[in-house]
Amino acid sequence: MTAPDLHIHTAFSCDCQTSMADMCRAAITVGLSEIGLSDHYDLIPQDPCYDFFHVEAWWEELERCRVEFGPTLTIRAGVELGEPHRFPKEIAALLSAFPWDYSLGSLHWVGEELIFREDYFRRSPDLAFREYFHELDRMAAEAEFDILAHLDVIKRLGFEQYGFYDPASYEEEIRRVLHTCAQRGRALEVNTSPLRRSVNQTAPEPPALTWFAEEGGRWITFGSDAHQPEHIGHALELVSGAARQAGYEGLATFEARRAQLHLPAPGSRPG
Ligand SMILES: [Zn+2]
Ligand SMILES: [Zn+2]
Repeated sequence: MTAPDLHIHTAFSCDCQTSMADMCRAAITVGLSEIGLSDHYDLIPQDPCYDFFHVEAWWEELERCRVEFGPTLTIRAGVELGEPHRFPKEIAALLSAFPWDYSLGSLHWVGEELIFREDYFRRSPDLAFREYFHELDRMAAEAEFDILAHLDVIKRLGFEQYGFYDPASYEEEIRRVLHTCAQRGRALEVNTSPLRRSVNQTAPEPPALTWFAEEGGRWITFGSDAHQPEHIGHALELVSGAARQAGYEGLATFEARRAQLHLPAPGSRPG
């Protein structure tokens, strides 16, 4: 397993209890040689993670882990930006103040509603999904970020409320988002956290990888969205296979906010 997992949380996120060092140890245990840490940076006051991320302390701990794990583990510096289109000044300040390798653009709120609460799903499925994709496209068009995270993560709870979710029903909306991302040179993440929920799909599913390529997208990244050590690297081989199947040379990584194809270390098998 050689491609990096670029979506990993640590105790610097409000919803994760595992220390950064223990997450790094878990990554080494599952055979990863490169990861990216991406804790939540949320600016909506009602968000459970609001005011939780302490960036200076995070960087200190990252530097300590880079020394401790040395050449065994390359640790990329990432951050998961919640609703970055709504906070352009704050996001620009954060991104320019530190030498990030990448940022994830994430949508957890549609208007005033959190998509991880049942209340959001009181409307029809059509309205729930279309309003989400509409705001996601606004984020893709307006915000500063490098990787579009968990494209259709709204299906996680959506599935529990409405049953089966077929991305093909929203192809037009999804393609619009992918087109915007491709035009702006953004990478698309395949997030495996919904595989661990009843919806049992990746976010997005493989057809969207093909749509992204057709819209001009070049880079696919892998993210387990691990909040627990045992989820690091979850279904990496599956995502790597889906990316190749869709015509990509492999999975991407980021260094100093530039995407590049992740090349396996000499002598290791392709991942
Ligand atoms: Zn997220
Ligand atoms: Zn996350």
